[in-house]
Amino acid sequence: MIQPFIFKFGGASIQDSDSFIRIVEILKAHWHNGLVVVVSAAGDTTDHLENSIHLAWNNQPYGETIDALEEYHLGICSALFPEDHAIYRQLPNDFVKLRKTLASERKLEGYAYFYDQVIGYGELISTRILQELLCLKGNYCIWQDARELIATDSNYKMANVDWVMTMQRCRKYLADKLETFPVITQGFIGSDWQGTTTTLGREGSDFTAAILAVSLGAKSVTIWKDVAGILNGDPDLFPDAVKFDYLDFEEAAEMTYFGAKVIHPKTIKPLAKQKIPLHVKSFLDPASSGTVIGSFEDHPKIPITVIRKDQVLATFRIKDLSKAGGFHFHELFELGKKSNWTIHLTQGSAVTLKLVLDKPDPANEFLPKSILENFHVLWQEGLTLVTVKNYLPEQEKMYETESAGIHLVQKSPATMQLVLANWEG
Ligand code: ASP
Ligand code: MG
Repeated sequence: MIQPFIFKFGGASIQDSDSFIRIVEILKAHWHNGLVVVVSAAGDTTDHLENSIHLAWNNQPYGETIDALEEYHLGICSALFPEDHAIYRQLPNDFVKLRKTLASERKLEGYAYFYDQVIGYGELISTRILQELLCLKGNYCIWQDARELIATDSNYKMANVDWVMTMQRCRKYLADKLETFPVITQGFIGSDWQGTTTTLGREGSDFTAAILAVSLGAKSVTIWKDVAGILNGDPDLFPDAVKFDYLDFEEAAEMTYFGAKVIHPKTIKPLAKQKIPLHVKSFLDPASSGTVIGSFEDHPKIPITVIRKDQVLATFRIKDLSKAGGFHFHELFELGKKSNWTIHLTQGSAVTLKLVLDKPDPANEFLPKSILENFHVLWQEGLTLVTVKNYLPEQEKMYETESAGIHLVQKSPATMQLVLANWEG
């Protein structure tokens, strides 16, 4: 079996016709059977689809949003394809299906289900455009529906991967094709055992690339982004941030846990387990080296700063002190998992657990009665989490002397985390 390599392109890399051309050039330079190209929805399509889902769900008019999306995609095509090309039949067809899905009674099955049936059209359409464009330019490749590959449970909007089934499906539907042709497929979407569409959570296309890499035993994964690679801080906040040439899997995984937005948090772990290197490269400057994430345990520890805004500090204090010792905290982690909380810091004592998390959707802020019966809860919003890994003594002082309103500090020899009220960065 051929050992594939996986490329992933996000929405920003295909936001207009020029960027599609740029991606085609990159792909041509790496054209080879065994290449699997995972693609997100073009530009901000997913945000617009999310908006239309919200409107449809609330019985408000959403037609204009969809019309604008169709116009946007057709506009991209008009600069890329001749007038009589089949894409002009394919695309309107996809939009007919999308409108039908939005209008259909599927709403009766619950919001998350409805959401997943609609939201993936962005990817289904963008991959069509890319595949047809490559073929038009003489680079024959196959369009593959990712829902035939990525097997999940039915936890809509945040489905969990069935790794064994996915591996079987990849071998069945993909391995042979890859012997001869590159394959273009969608990020973000999968299907459950009934064949119903599911999604892996927003920005989940990086994770799709990792799932396919593991399932196919890939040589490497390359995520193409609009930045030079992974930097040790957000360049908008830290102008002298430096790019890593190499980064250890563990450091990269920690960065995503602390809230760095470089790569989807679920991406690193499966790749680390199989030791499949992950390249992060710039689609604006494809010849530059980017960052390689792999097993580089001995490389020098450079300070890494991650700033995460809009954080909630949730403090849970046990009411009945005879239950002290933290044995009841598992209820809180279970709740967090069920409610899809994204937690970036935990701090526990015998009677108190503090969690720092992204502000959840209103529906997922709900605290059940059992939790309120067992814990005093303090829920503080609008805070900033600063994490400095491999911190230097001067950084320690810098943050602590700032009149920043420190709500919490947590330090280990390797990592310092602070929750601040007034972050001016
Ligand atoms: N298009 C989806 C989103 O914007 C998935 C992705 O981009 O990774 O969330
Ligand atoms: Mg996207």
